[in-house]
Formats: sequence, C-alpha cells, structure tokens
Amino acid sequence: AYGSPRWQTQYEQNLRAEIDPAHPVQWMRDFGRTPSHVGTPGNARSLEAEVAALKKAGLEVEVDTYQVLATKPKSISVRQTAPVERDLAVVEDDVDMAPEDLPIAYNAYSPAGSVSGEIVYVNYGRPQDFAELERRGVSVEGKIALARYGQNFRGVKPDQAAKAGAIGMIMFSDPSDDGFVRGDTFPDGPWRPDDGIQRGSVLRLWDRPGDPLTPGTPSKPGVPRIDESEATTFAKIPVTPISSREARKLLSTLTGPAVPEEWQGGHDFRYRFGGGETSVKLDLDIDRTQIDVNNVIATIPGTDPDAGYVLVGGHRDTWSAGAVDNKSGWISTMELARALGGLYRDGWQPRRTIVLAGWDGEEYGLLGATEYAENHAQKLKDGALAYLNMDGTAGTRFGASSVPSLDDEIRSVADEVDSPTGKGSVGSAWRAAAEGTPTIGRLGSGSDYTAFLQHVGVPAAGIGFSSTGTVYHSLYDTVEYLEKFSDPGLKGVAAAAEVSGSLALRLANADILPMKYSAYASDVRTRLEAMKKDAPAGASLQTTLDAAAAWGSATRRLEARGARLAAGGLTSGERPEAAKINEAILAQERALLTPDGLPGRPWFKHQVWAPGQTTGYAVLPLPALAEATEAGDRAAFDKAAADLTRSLKNATALAEDVLDD
Ligand code: GLU
Ligand code: CA
Ligand code: ZN
Ligand code: ZN
Repeated sequence: AYGSPRWQTQYEQNLRAEIDPAHPVQWMRDFGRTPSHVGTPGNARSLEAEVAALKKAGLEVEVDTYQVLATKPKSISVRQTAPVERDLAVVEDDVDMAPEDLPIAYNAYSPAGSVSGEIVYVNYGRPQDFAELERRGVSVEGKIALARYGQNFRGVKPDQAAKAGAIGMIMFSDPSDDGFVRGDTFPDGPWRPDDGIQRGSVLRLWDRPGDPLTPGTPSKPGVPRIDESEATTFAKIPVTPISSREARKLLSTLTGPAVPEEWQGGHDFRYRFGGGETSVKLDLDIDRTQIDVNNVIATIPGTDPDAGYVLVGGHRDTWSAGAVDNKSGWISTMELARALGGLYRDGWQPRRTIVLAGWDGEEYGLLGATEYAENHAQKLKDGALAYLNMDGTAGTRFGASSVPSLDDEIRSVADEVDSPTGKGSVGSAWRAAAEGTPTIGRLGSGSDYTAFLQHVGVPAAGIGFSSTGTVYHSLYDTVEYLEKFSDPGLKGVAAAAEVSGSLALRLANADILPMKYSAYASDVRTRLEAMKKDAPAGASLQTTLDAAAAWGSATRRLEARGARLAAGGLTSGERPEAAKINEAILAQERALLTPDGLPGRPWFKHQVWAPGQTTGYAVLPLPALAEATEAGDRAAFDKAAADLTRSLKNATALAEDVLDD
C-alpha cells in the first residue's frame, strides 16, 4: 500500500532501475562540449539544450534568474621583465574554441590592475608559509607573490599575500601536486599537462558567497544594492593563474636562498625564495559587470504539499567545457529528475515534493544557489528537509560529506546501489577502498550547499564519485577526458543519481524523518571535549557540554519514540503525533543558527560548521569557539560558548516538547 515499507522499497528499486547511463551519455554528447562559463553565449546555449532535454523528458522546468555583479576578463598579460624579457602564455596550447566562448585563464573577482615587481615564491600561500618567510627575513612587501595551487581555497592565497604586503600574485600548478610527477599527463594519462591552467574564483567566499552587492537579499531587479566601494568580497590584490610550464620560466630564474624541502616542487631544479633579480609585470584588464545567472529548477510534486520538500542539485556552469566539473553532477541531477518524472507519470508519486536544481555561477562564488537560498530563505526554513549536492560525479571512487544526522542514511543507501566499479555495491567498494569504515566528511565551503546549510540551516550533504588524476578548471576538462580517464560509460554519473535519488526518496516518503540528531549531538560533544584543553585560561565548556549531553538524550528519546510509532506503518490516529515529531526534527538544524551570525562574518549563521577563514574549503567546526581559542580571547570564547549553549537548549526543548505531550 501507499507509504508502506514494501512500497518504499519498490519505489527505490524502480528508481534505480529507471536510471540509465544512456541518457547521461547522450546529454554529454548534446551539450557536454559546450562551455558553460557564466554570463557567456556558451552558457546560454547549454541552458537552452538542458531545458529542452528536461522538457522532452516530460518535466516542468523553470529558469530562475538573478542579476549579480561579476567580473569579465578583457585581456590578461603576464610578462617577465628580468632577468629575461618574455611574455608568458595565458592560455593552453591547443585551443579549439570560438573566441566568444573561450574562457580566458583568469581569476574571477580579481581586481583589475597593472603591477610590476620582484617575485617571491610563497609555497602554498598559507598563513604558515608567510610566517616562515617572515622568520627567514624574506619580505614580500611591495612584491609579487608566486604561489602554487593546492592545500587551500585559492582565494585565501592573495588574501594572505595582501596581508603580508604583496602588491600582486601569480598562482601556478606545480607538477608535484597535479602534473607529471603524479603520473602520465593528458592525453597519455589523467594528470594535468604542463600547459594546463587552473582557472578559478578568488571571491572571499569564507566572508560571504553570492553576489557581492546584495548580502542576505536576492539579487533580483529592484532589490537595493550596496555601493560597489563597500563590497568586501573581491580579492584585495590583482591575481592571475599560469601553467606549470610557464611557472617553470619564473621559478628557474629565481635566486636567493634555497627553499626548505617541503617547499620544493616538482621541477628539476632547486626552488629559491627569490632575490631581487627576477621581476614580472601583470596587466589585468578585468571589467566589473552585471550579469545574469540562470538556475534551472524542475519539480516533482508530492502528494502532501504541507509535509515539506527535498532539494537536490548541482552546478550547471563550468569554467571550460567542464565535463567533470560539473556537467557530471548536473547531468546526474538531470537524470534523477528524468527518472523521477517517468515514475511519476507511471503513478509513483513521492509524499513530499522533490525539487531538482541546476545552479548557475557556482564557479564564480556559489552565485545562483546563494541568491536562490536568500530569495527563498523563509520557504526553506519552513519546509526544506535537506539539500543534497552533487559537484563531481565522474568516476568509481565514492565520497560523501554531510551533517552528522544524515550519516546513517547515506551509508545505508550506499549499500543499495551497484558500484560503478562493476563489483558489489557502492557501500562495499567504499569500505574496501577505505580498508574499514569510510569517513564521511563535514561541510566547509566551495560548493552550493553553503547557503542552504550555513545561512538558512538546511541539513546538507555532498555526494559524488571521483577518479585518479585531475585537469581541474583547465581547457582539458572535456568529454574526451571524461570518457577516457574519468568515467567511461558514465557509470559514476548514473550511480550518483541512484544514491542521491534513493536518499531523496527516503527523506520524501518517510513517516518519521530519518535524521539522527543524537548522532549530531555525539559529534558536537566529541569536538567540545577535544577543545576543552585549549580553552583560554579560566574559561569553561562544561555548561555547553552538559547542554550537548542533554540534547543527545532528548533526541535519542525522540528517535526511539519515532521508531516505535513508525514500526508497522502509521495508523491514521498516529499521524498527528508523527507530524509533531517530524516538525521537531525539522526544527533541529535551524536551532543551531545564531541570528547575528559568526564574529566578523554575520552572513554565516551556523554555529557548528563554517569554512575556515584561512582555508576557505576546509571546515572549521565550532568556528566561533575555535577562532576565540586561537586568539586566546576569553570574552569571545565565553560569548561563543553561551550562544551555542542557548541553541543546544532550544533544540533540546523542541524535542522534549513533543515527548512531554
Ligand atoms: N567550487 C568553485 C571553486 O573552488 C567555486 C568556489 C567559490 O568561489 O565559491 O573555485
Ligand atoms: Ca544576495
Ligand atoms: Zn564544481
Ligand atoms: Zn569548479
């Protein structure tokens, strides 16, 4: 019967049977080669093809447009001026693209500017790298920092460099990080060729993603903008990317002391800090301009419009053709939409609505998803059960990151889906690769879940597949690369649709929402315990720990009550109580927000997860406490502990209210 466990099992099986790599293969052929760089004609052409494909599959599709302030490169020049004069290449060698589509290699949200100066090599451009330079008396003041990609979000590199007084930055791909030192390079192998350039945004996304001019509000026409001079999320100094091969020309002419061993990259000479003999001139002609970002939204209506909804999505924009990043994840989303739509026409309808989204402008700074979340914040708070993100689904190696409340259900659905390796389930292949229990990561930033989780409080997860090697954000991220090295036959792309689709159906149909806040409470407690020893002198986390323990026991009882109720299916007399339990579960994540947001970055409202301000991608759990600890700031620490305690008590009360009834 409708809603029974057998019905659910059948529904999930039907979905997995319906999902078929044949459609992703076809779509990759239809628009996988079209560069979907935000704001360009290619993006508009692929938008048309994507909407047509979804409509052809019988879905209702909406294009949701925002106007955001972005950058557009007009001309980029990197010229070495000493000891030799030469222009460095700022695009790959084999360019086979119409000029209007060609994604010039540049860093979005870099300021325009002409700067010249001596070069200093700064390793990965992390705080510890600049500290090391200072210790050795190597100054970057007034100079141009040369940083290798990797270890952090690229946007933190120019941020740290600017702090140290640099006037410009060049970022490059080092062969030891993703090139020939790692393995054969494309087209012989899956690693980055020496002329491959990593493009990418340097928006200060740890401060706030989305449109720079509309913090917290949707950038629709007529919505007030802050003045451009008040925008804080542009990079602070001009910065631009080059390839490993061009970087070699600079690195090989650097003088001065040799760098420490950990700073040595993969070229076959000793890397040096630089000694005044090597200089460079950057001319970055970059416009600031309003562009449209176009999200694509397809909806599978549920039978119960009041029971909330599940959101699944991936970004539809790319840097180049972007077959891996992120045609793969968007096509997984599209295939899921197509399969759910087909089942819907056959009479299979979820209880709760499922919304499927292709976000635009992710590459520039999570633009489309952030504006959408700001636009629909209240609706999301009222009804969004979860947001499932797919950014990179090409390959056989499964990976997941999520809030702790979704861990169990992710592990469970992974066991139901056939592995793209062709052997066993996704779950068994995942365990074999991990040689034990695989870790589920926690969410920092760098993809579209950020606004949902950290601004609005929607439980989120990222689900994907990957393969060995990378040509990330270069012109080599093509359908040929994907089919040869990354995901032959698009099995990973299809499996990701099955994993996220199975999870979405469980969330959409469950009598009692399968989110485990008792597991969340354990996770938070463990982190608080570990933080105790480093707390500023005289500060205590005991009250917060007690609150976390109480939250754990209240949610454990709520979950037990829910499980008893759900066992054997709900009678109509039990429905009102189930609805109350679900409401309490839905309110848990929201309760972890603080209205004022994090210290110095009010847009980030979640107290448990935020991107680190010096990592950008990597999560900084319990950020306000962690930063106060780092600064040894007792007052900030006490405030962070009190805020968190209050939230944990609210969450506990929401659970207990239902139990007391
Ligand atoms: N995922 C993209 C990147 O790493 C976008 C991150 C951002 O700028 O928000 O470049
Ligand atoms: Ca906005
Ligand atoms: Zn991506
Ligand atoms: Zn990307």
